[in-house]
Amino acid sequence: MENLLHSESKKTEPHPSSNSKIIGLTGGIGSGKTTVAKFIENCGFPVYYSDDRAKEIVNDNADLKVKIKELLGEESYDEYDLYNRKFVAKRVFESEDLLDKLNQIIHPAVRIDFENWVKKQTKYLIFKETALLFELKLHLECYQSVLVTAEDNIRIKRVMDRDQKTYREVQSIMENQMSEKEKIKLADYVIYNNTNLDDLKEQTEKVIFEIE
Ligand code: ATP
Repeated sequence: MENLLHSESKKTEPHPSSNSKIIGLTGGIGSGKTTVAKFIENCGFPVYYSDDRAKEIVNDNADLKVKIKELLGEESYDEYDLYNRKFVAKRVFESEDLLDKLNQIIHPAVRIDFENWVKKQTKYLIFKETALLFELKLHLECYQSVLVTAEDNIRIKRVMDRDQKTYREVQSIMENQMSEKEKIKLADYVIYNNTNLDDLKEQTEKVIFEIE
């Protein structure tokens, strides 16, 4: 068992709109954070999937649609008024400034959506799965944080199998993410996902037990 508890890291009070303690769950591409999130749900604790919700919100939130069209043009949405992910990705790939502005529109909307979700929760432990927990300093708003990590080659292989991407494609995404070393320093708990799903499940349950 290799879970690490970094007891020196900062703890915050429960979220003001709820009595639940929010646990941030993160990991780089292919680390296994979604798989861990499913194990957590199986243990009876709710999980908010920030990245999935962000993808839904761009289609659900009328105000956001207007702002995105203002920033990137009408083509940001197709003839059915659905988010044109390909077009948007191309526009922001060409300009870091546009990417920042797009994030400044989407991130506050996800924050509001999360806060509304939190208000509805009744469990004393609730989890927020998000790829950019540390990058956006969202861990500072969580009671504790859990990082899922695995060796680079294992992560690359898993994503290649899952997404039919090439080794180089996955590697270049990884190179643009915060290093595992840095994330390990920031996390309260680290789950090392280098073996099989049974081991991953066991480590997840141990972390939940320790947080409880
Ligand atoms: P991303 O950020 O890229 O969406 P993720 O961190 O959410 O990735 P998962 O989708 O949970 O990662 O896992 C990546 C792939 O690896 C999935 O296909 C998953 O089924 C598989 N996987 C995860 N952990 C293990 C494991 N211990 N053994 C075998 N396969 C695994």
